[in-house]
Amino acid sequence: MKRYRLRYAPSPTGYLHIGNTRTALMNFLFAKHYNGDFIVRIEDTDQERNVEGALESQFDNMDWLGINADESYLKPKAEFGAYMQSMKFERYQQLANQLIAEKKAYKCWCTPEELEEDRERQLAKGIVAPQYNRKCLNNQDDLNNSDKPFNIRFLVPENKIYKINDIVRGEVEFNSKEIGDFVILKSNAIATYNFAVVVDDVDMQITHVVRGEEHISNTPRQCMIYEAFGWDEPAFCHLTLIVDDTKKKLSKRSGNAVFFISQYREQGYLPEALFNYIALLGWSPKVEQEIFTIEQFIEMFDEKRFSKSPSTFDMVKMKWINSQWMKKLSEDEYFDFTKKFIDTSRFDIDSKSTEWLKNVLMLYKKELEFGAQINDHLDMFFNNFELSQETKITLEQFKDIKEMIEDLKVKIESLQNFDEENLKELIKQLGIDHSKKGKELFMPVRIFTTKSEHGPELAKTISLLGKEKVIENINSIL
Ligand code: GLU
Repeated sequence: MKRYRLRYAPSPTGYLHIGNTRTALMNFLFAKHYNGDFIVRIEDTDQERNVEGALESQFDNMDWLGINADESYLKPKAEFGAYMQSMKFERYQQLANQLIAEKKAYKCWCTPEELEEDRERQLAKGIVAPQYNRKCLNNQDDLNNSDKPFNIRFLVPENKIYKINDIVRGEVEFNSKEIGDFVILKSNAIATYNFAVVVDDVDMQITHVVRGEEHISNTPRQCMIYEAFGWDEPAFCHLTLIVDDTKKKLSKRSGNAVFFISQYREQGYLPEALFNYIALLGWSPKVEQEIFTIEQFIEMFDEKRFSKSPSTFDMVKMKWINSQWMKKLSEDEYFDFTKKFIDTSRFDIDSKSTEWLKNVLMLYKKELEFGAQINDHLDMFFNNFELSQETKITLEQFKDIKEMIEDLKVKIESLQNFDEENLKELIKQLGIDHSKKGKELFMPVRIFTTKSEHGPELAKTISLLGKEKVIENINSIL
């Protein structure tokens, strides 16, 4: 069997986001499952749209996710040509000239204004999808010596059916009459996407092209180029759209979803969790389980299990998967990870011992969905605040508690060892002495000691708050 070679081919026009990460990741899994090669190649022919730093950022975020390229412009292999289109101008030029010599392509001197005028004319006649009128095709010799700039156009075969056997969609047919003669090399000598992509896939011996479904309409053009050169086509695999909860294509404007990988990093998501979630976008394993490692995904991968319908990006599930991965961290790993996301402008962690901080963060290990969420919980340990309106209302439901709370204060003041065990005992005794139990006991104690009606294990929380702070809290409410 031929060695599988798959590629992710980003343009350096933007950053790594959920959509292009899914493409990269599926190519990676597909290649690795079959012990093949995963290649990252840069499609940078549209130099004007290049964004400074986008490329470095894409590589950095892919590394972080564990989507590592076997070959890229950073790790090139000479036999496969350059890994960046801007380094291959001569190659495209030479191949375009070859097509002209074989009368499979031709020069076109029409100016953008002329093309636009003709388009308008066709639209006015009711033609919905105007095509190039082939004005230059029949004038090749006459104009050849002109020093006007020209594009090179591919001569689309007449009325021919192109079939793609897509791994996701099955057989898809296109009629060439729907496709006009398209430009393969622009007047500035830069190859267009549909031409360069074929040349590169052939040069790099790509066996499977896995990409987003927005490229399916480009595929017949690419098939024509393969045919013109007599090259073998790779297998095609067009992944269905990822949509947001309004069913629109996921984008940076999608309401509840976070779009860029760097944003997840900044908010304290784990790379294993992102990989895990994105691998389930438009692909599903045979088993019901949802938490898998990269190695498990590689092992389980099966190209027959791509979804045929769009997949909805679900932020709730993303968070759930991250919380599952956070639970797997050891105490030390969890502490080191979560600590990085504490907003130190709000919480003065330097004034506290590491041991204490670790115990505080551990209170939330089971419930945190992502690192930065820790900031929603730390106020009670670091800052002074008033009871919220909501908590005041809750507290008003408990009648005749003043005596109990005053006793609580006395008991706390005289407690020698302010640890969890003793505090549990203290609360139990308080209940007995005042004939209160369950919520009647715990809610008032929680609110008076912590100033919040929700929170983690009460005795542990009180011990971490410390005697002084707890007394201050009780006094401020009394
Ligand atoms: N540069 C193209 C993109 O970013 C890649 C298309 C392809 O994989 O053929 O969409």
